[in-house]
Amino acid sequence: MDQQGEFTAVHPSGGTRLRTAPPGVLPYYLVLEAAAVALPFLVPSTAPTAREWLSFAILLGSAVAQAELSAQAERMQRFLARNPHVSLSSVWIFAAALVMPPGLAAVLTVLIYVHAWLRTADVPGVRPYRVTCSVATCVVTAFAAWAVADVFGTGAGAPGVAETVAAGLTFFLVNTLLVMIGFKLHEPSRPWLSLAGSVPENVLDAATLCFGGVAAVLLTAQPWLVALLVLPLVLLRRGELGRQLALRARDHTTGLLTIAEWRARAEAELERARRTGGACGILMIDLDHFKRVNDTHGHLAGDDVLRAVARAVRGEVRIYDAVGRFGGEEFVVLLPGIGPGHAAAVAERIRDAVAGLVVETAHGPGRIDGLSVSIGVAVHPAAGHGVDQVLGAADKAVYEAKNTGRNRVCVRR
Ligand code: GH3
Ligand code: MG
Ligand code: MG
Repeated sequence: MDQQGEFTAVHPSGGTRLRTAPPGVLPYYLVLEAAAVALPFLVPSTAPTAREWLSFAILLGSAVAQAELSAQAERMQRFLARNPHVSLSSVWIFAAALVMPPGLAAVLTVLIYVHAWLRTADVPGVRPYRVTCSVATCVVTAFAAWAVADVFGTGAGAPGVAETVAAGLTFFLVNTLLVMIGFKLHEPSRPWLSLAGSVPENVLDAATLCFGGVAAVLLTAQPWLVALLVLPLVLLRRGELGRQLALRARDHTTGLLTIAEWRARAEAELERARRTGGACGILMIDLDHFKRVNDTHGHLAGDDVLRAVARAVRGEVRIYDAVGRFGGEEFVVLLPGIGPGHAAAVAERIRDAVAGLVVETAHGPGRIDGLSVSIGVAVHPAAGHGVDQVLGAADKAVYEAKNTGRNRVCVRR
């Protein structure tokens, strides 16, 4: 999880080559790969039964169908994700670990990954060594889950409750741990917690394993019905892509909308106001003497202040009012349906909330107060019809507020 608890951004070193990877990466990968190759030979295993071959074929077919139907979303997500995104293929691999000999589950894992890799091999940053490492991670994880299932299992019929839950937890924990170690070796400066993935990513991971448990039960009762899981999984992948795209519209420091996203929403809202003859308020907010905060307490404390102010602004507006980060220490708020008097009242509330802020920070003095903002208010249609016109008017009002003493609201009519 990163600073915001849920916001992730593009990974700067997503395409590190093995040659230039930090020391420790290569030995770790070699150990993982050696373990993945050795385990099928070390674990005694009987020849698969006809039913296990059928399960194998159904899982492979379902995995390929799911990957084919999700190919577009999958490719886009590889461009977007910071950590390697949760691979939904663990549905099939976890099911395999529950119902078939581990050697066969390992072969299934390799085939699923080879197919997925062929589908996305042309995406920049997808390195073959990373794919092999993912396969090895998954094979080792599947073995761990299989071993735990073996301890809790009854050996016949559908997997039991304790067996499924214990093996699922093992799969989740072992996989997370192996991935975290790989990341830590790549980027030793990143804190451990940030390597565990965001809350939504972990929830998706857990959901994937739930599907895997259901697939295992179906395989022992009505194997062909496993195909029913393919479409829900395709939708799950699309939902995850939608979430990733929504994150891209957020400023990394504050979690507010980026200016591009804010502007797109403002344009749509003003267009609607023009059609319906309604009003729309825009606030431009500028922190007073923010440079002093940085100069006195450092930029990290400054970032804490920016986050606290962003939260304070959000706390004073409606859920559907768009709040964006205009730049540095400037914020913009879109207030659909709000005329000049009401917009000024909202701005006054925000000014008051910021003036009362006491920001707790782990950097600098521990607590920062005495903050203030200057706010310019302008309203469509009085201040103009386009976003630039209304924003320009709000900007002039900010200057007026600065020139008349700061910590105040000025309205441009
Ligand atoms: P005024 O009351 O006239 O607005 O004064 P000010 O100091 O707020 O304005 P000025 O434009 O002089 O300084 C803005 C400062 O904001 C300077 C810059 O270092 C800081 N800043 C911009 N972006 C960030 C950021 O992301 N984090 C931090 N900590 N500081 C930032
Ligand atoms: Mg400024
Ligand atoms: Mg300022």
